[in-house]
This record gives sequence, C-alpha cells and structure tokens, in this order.
Amino acid sequence: MQTLKFADTVAQQRSYFETDATKSIDFRRDNLQKLKRILRDHEIELHRAIEADFNKSYFETFLAEFARLSIDIEHTIRNLKKWSRKRRAPTNIINFPATSYLVPEPLGVCLIIGTWNFPYQISLSPLVSCIAAGNTAIVKPSELASNTSSAMARIINDAFPPEYIHVIEGGVDETSVLLEQRFDKIFFTGSTRVGRIVYRAAAEHLTPVTLELGGKGPAIVNDDCNLEQSVKRLVWAKYLNAGQVCIAPDYVLVHESIRDAFLSSAKKSIEQYSYSLENGNYVQIINESNFKRLVNLIDYDKVYCGGKTDAEFRYIEPTIMINVSPDDPVMQEEIFGPIMPVLSFSSVDEAVNIVRRYPKPLALYVFACSSQFKKHILDKLSFGTGAINDAVMQTTNPYLPFGGVGESGMGSAHGKAGFDSFSHYKSILAKPFWLDSNLRYSPYSERKLKVVKWIAGWGRRR
Ligand code: NAD
Repeated sequence: MQTLKFADTVAQQRSYFETDATKSIDFRRDNLQKLKRILRDHEIELHRAIEADFNKSYFETFLAEFARLSIDIEHTIRNLKKWSRKRRAPTNIINFPATSYLVPEPLGVCLIIGTWNFPYQISLSPLVSCIAAGNTAIVKPSELASNTSSAMARIINDAFPPEYIHVIEGGVDETSVLLEQRFDKIFFTGSTRVGRIVYRAAAEHLTPVTLELGGKGPAIVNDDCNLEQSVKRLVWAKYLNAGQVCIAPDYVLVHESIRDAFLSSAKKSIEQYSYSLENGNYVQIINESNFKRLVNLIDYDKVYCGGKTDAEFRYIEPTIMINVSPDDPVMQEEIFGPIMPVLSFSSVDEAVNIVRRYPKPLALYVFACSSQFKKHILDKLSFGTGAINDAVMQTTNPYLPFGGVGESGMGSAHGKAGFDSFSHYKSILAKPFWLDSNLRYSPYSERKLKVVKWIAGWGRRR
C-alpha cells in the first residue's frame, strides 16, 4: 500500500518536473522566499516542536536552525541568477573556431533524508539548494525527532503542492520503501552505517548521491595556542546541542606539556557556560537508546569532571574523561554526545598517528600558533571540513562547501556547492559553419598525422 502511495508521489513529481514549471529563475526565487516566509510565520510552532523533542531553548533554536536557514536562503537568492547562468569555458586549438560553455540543469526528482540532531537545518538546507537548482523534492526527516518531523510535514505540505515539494514522515520501513523508487538525486545525512544502505539502494537506479555522514573528528591543541581562547571555543563546540553535532570535536588531543592547564581551564569553562536543562543553556539526549549508549561509554574511573546522568530527563552532564587510550570503548565509535575524551601527545607526528588510526573524519580542528604545526597537520591528515583556532563555525560560512571524505561522506552541501550537488552541468561545444578543417576526415595522410601529432604535443619531451 505504502509502496503504491510513495511511487505515486514520485510519479506525480516526475510529471510535474517534466512540465518545466520548476526551472525558471522567478519560480525558484519565489519558492525560496516562500520557504523563508513559512518558517518565519510558523516560528513559534517550529520552536515548540523542537522544545518537545530536546528541551531546546529559543536562543539555540534560532542560532542553529532559523539563523542558519535564513543565511542559506538569503545567500542563495542573492546568487541564484549568477549560479544558474551558462558558464563560458576555454576552447582548445583543435576545435578552433568554436565557443565552449557549461549549462547547469536540474536533475529532476530528489529525495532528501535527514537526521534529528538539527532537524530543520539538516532537512531544509539541502531543500534550499534543491529548489535553487530547479528540482522537485521529497523530504524525509528523522522519525527520532518526532515533533519536529510532524511540524515540518504539516507546515510544508500545507504550503507546497505534493507534486513539487512533499514531506514524508517515517522510519526505517518508510525510508526503505522510498529508496526502492527511482530518484534523480538522493541527498542523505546520517550515519556511515545507513549511508552504505542508501548508497547500495541508489546504485540500483544509478542515482547520484550526496552522503553527509559522521565519524570521529579530533581537536588538536598544541602547546603554543592561546589556551584561554582555545578552550572557550572548543568547550562551546563540544557541548553545543549536548554534543549531538556531526562536526563537534569528538575527542581532544592536547600537547602533554599543557594537559593539566587545559583540563582545569576546560572545567572552569564548563562551569561558566552554566549548562542546565532548566536555564535553556543545554539540551536533552534525543532518546532512551542514545542515552543508554552514551552512559555505557563513560568509564567512571577516568572521569575528570561531570559524569552525572538522569535517565528520566535524558540528561548527561558535560563530561571530560582523562587517561584515555585509543583502545578504550569511548574511542571505538563516534560519540555524538557530551563526553570529551582527552588524550595527550608529545610530538606532532604522534598526534597525526593517533588520528590516522580512525577513518578519515568529517571535521578536524587545530588550535596552535605555529604555522609549521598547522601546516603539518593540514598536509598529513585528510578530513572533510575544519577550522584553525575555532570549531564548528566553518559551517556558518556559505562560501565554504561542506562535506566529508572517505567514510565521512561524499559530495558537498551549502551555497554554490549545494546548488552544484543538485545540478548537472551540460557541456557544450558550439561551432560556426564558416570554417571546417579537413584534418580529422579521411582520407588520412602522413601530413595530416604529423599535424595532429604536433597539435597533441606528442613529440614534446617532458
Ligand atoms: P541514522 O543514519 O540512523 O538516520 C538517518 C536517517 O536515515 C533517518 O532519517 C532514518 O530514518 C534513516 N534510516 C535509519 N536507518 C535506516 C535504514 N536501515 N534504512 C533506511 N533508512 C534508515 O543517523 P542518526 O542517528 O539520525 O544521526 C546521527 C548520525 O548522523 C551521526 O553519525 C552524525 O555524525 C551524522 N550526521 C551527519 C551530518 C553531516 O552533515 N555530515 C549531520 C548530522 C548528523
């Protein structure tokens, strides 16, 4: 039954896409403006839903959800015309006389699958790029944040016709049925484990995918950094959303000579941020199973500070663990919660070797002043996105593409990179009729071969 319903929505969207209605710049701009308008009109309802899922304050909802989406939409509207224009490319001598260019075109019917940790931003930011590129979309938010998922379905399905944009709610069963359909693009945000399932399903229809996945992202703190500033930024980034952030620093590698100073400064910083569920500076863990998973990762013999938990409110105090080894359970999986294991290193190569024990991370942060140290880390380690002397903030710059590498994902999101993810670039060579060299046509000759070899640079020694 569900298969038929979903297949029907996809078919409706395909027919609508084929009318070309979604392709004009005016249409795209109007719908981006409409998306922003409905978010603003339903701001309170959307905030109530996120409060019910996480106990998240309005301030944090605004900062991490509405502000991010607003920046995305404004940036996209401002650049829409430029991005949608055909782009000239140089023409090589073989093709003289000709012009060459690239024409962006929408891919068609797109599926966007989201996570629960920043439910609006993660499902709707790809939708912004999807609309901008001229596609239709089915959005499947995460069932784990059930209130925000329902709020999005209600608000978006009221505002947009199903043949253009439609939110489908559900979990594994619904997503599995959706993944059987033929889409022209799948944009998935989630775990590496489910990323593999999505990639396999997409291969069936040769559907292009963007996979925004996770991983263990380190923060590397060198002895020459400004410790106070580094700790202030790092602690904020780690415990934002109670650590349920894909680009949060998962673990910290700190130079052994400043380890003790780092720890006491981090503890002080946690106190200053005044994290509590009552005052709105902190959030709950999303559900019971994640709460239990996280509690099991805390080794109480290694807790430096924090460690208090409350199952009724799914609360885990911001926690720092020390004397952690790369073989400890907390270092075997992405934490995605408010636990900060601190490991120390004595040389930059030791830090590099620890990071290399894990798959390529989505995010990496370096806190250091020495240019040599920073260069060494950037040269030696592969990761998706990062920051120097800060953490998480790189994602707020729409000029920076966002995405992983290796097990942390493929493809990019945000700004122009997001637009490109939902576009195909047709490459065109345009020739006039006024000149036609006979070089490529038979009958072939030695003389023609010589000219071709010269043009191709065959005789040039390198
Ligand atoms: P998840 O992979 O469990 O779920 C993501 C989505 O996939 C949900 O919509 C869910 O309904 C669906 N899903 C789950 N199991 C499925 C299955 N078997 N078949 C088909 N669909 C399935 O991820 P999560 O727990 O919601 O989110 C946490 C993970 O997401 C972390 O690894 C985190 O790093 C990552 N993440 C990445 C980014 C990014 O931008 N790279 C952003 C946020 C979260």
